[in-house]
Amino acid sequence: MHPTKSNDIRRPPATNEDGLAQLSRLAENVKRIKSVQDKFVNSQNLQKEGRALVGEGILMKVCRKKPKQRAFFLFNDILVYGQVVISGRKYSQQKIIPLNEIKITPSKDTPENPYAWLISSPKKSFVVRANSDRERQEWLAHLDRCIRYACGGTNSQHSAVAAHWVPDDKADTCMHCHSSKFSAYNRRHHCRNCGLIICDGCSKRRFLLPHLDSKPVRICDACHIKLNNPNLDESRPTQRDRAADSSDSDGEEGPAQFAPVPATFYQNVENL
Ligand SMILES: [Zn+2]
Ligand SMILES: [Zn+2]
Repeated sequence: MHPTKSNDIRRPPATNEDGLAQLSRLAENVKRIKSVQDKFVNSQNLQKEGRALVGEGILMKVCRKKPKQRAFFLFNDILVYGQVVISGRKYSQQKIIPLNEIKITPSKDTPENPYAWLISSPKKSFVVRANSDRERQEWLAHLDRCIRYACGGTNSQHSAVAAHWVPDDKADTCMHCHSSKFSAYNRRHHCRNCGLIICDGCSKRRFLLPHLDSKPVRICDACHIKLNNPNLDESRPTQRDRAADSSDSDGEEGPAQFAPVPATFYQNVENL
């Protein structure tokens, strides 16, 4: 069995989940996982019974200041990503999200953000984009399949997820009062519940959002009203402490530059 370009195996999300379980038992799979682990600086132990590496590729992660290239590895139970130190050889700043906590929402294409989708999880939510529509479709199909697998055959979604933070350049003035203009002295803040960019004056309140943090977090005045009157609005996404886990907190881009490479999804056992 060899790694193949995803377009060779493109297919709708499989209904039979046995493929992923069988894949996890292949020696080749165990080797691949070990190889991913070895390429990460300070990697957690990625080797686990029943785990299969389904695919990998470079995606642009839309961060607070600007999009950054990140290497993503899709397993049948977790999504791992990190900074690229040397393309294909060395990664750092490893992040792991269990798939049973992930919710995927395709985004509408815009000129600045084509081929994108939103990855939401309890602690962190962010937008990534692929190099082409085709690559996006492949990622979405494999993500869907793996999330179903991780959720035991359903696509049941985790209840509370973090808000996606609106990137800083999307607002020069507060998105709540529309009058406070941001500057070096009047800093942007993000509401942890709705993700909008707001001024300090409009975000004096704190609220406990247990999926984000054990301490109350910054929320905007609009969300303060909503959260204290839950009958008014049921939607409540969120985010945690900005310094610890903001959408751009996974460090600066390394010096390495590299051309985008197409994602690789590994041939699943039904094709053997
Ligand atoms: Zn304001
Ligand atoms: Zn808010």
